[in-house]
Amino acid sequence: MADDARCPDCDVPFEAADLFTGKGELKVRTEAESDDVLAAVGVTKALEVEPRRCPECGLVRFYAEE
Ligand SMILES: [Zn+2]
Repeated sequence: MADDARCPDCDVPFEAADLFTGKGELKVRTEAESDDVLAAVGVTKALEVEPRRCPECGLVRFYAEE
């Protein structure tokens, strides 16, 4: 999870941020688990994206959550 993530520049905890695309949710496509039978045939999966924002410097980092 990204809940304990900290800004690498400021060393303060990231805050949850809302991300708007205007065209639905932003997702990250990744290869399936290596031990997944679907990976053997090249199937990918879509992960939810969790944005986090640093309250000090404004850095936004995205985490692709399982
Ligand atoms: Zn920062």
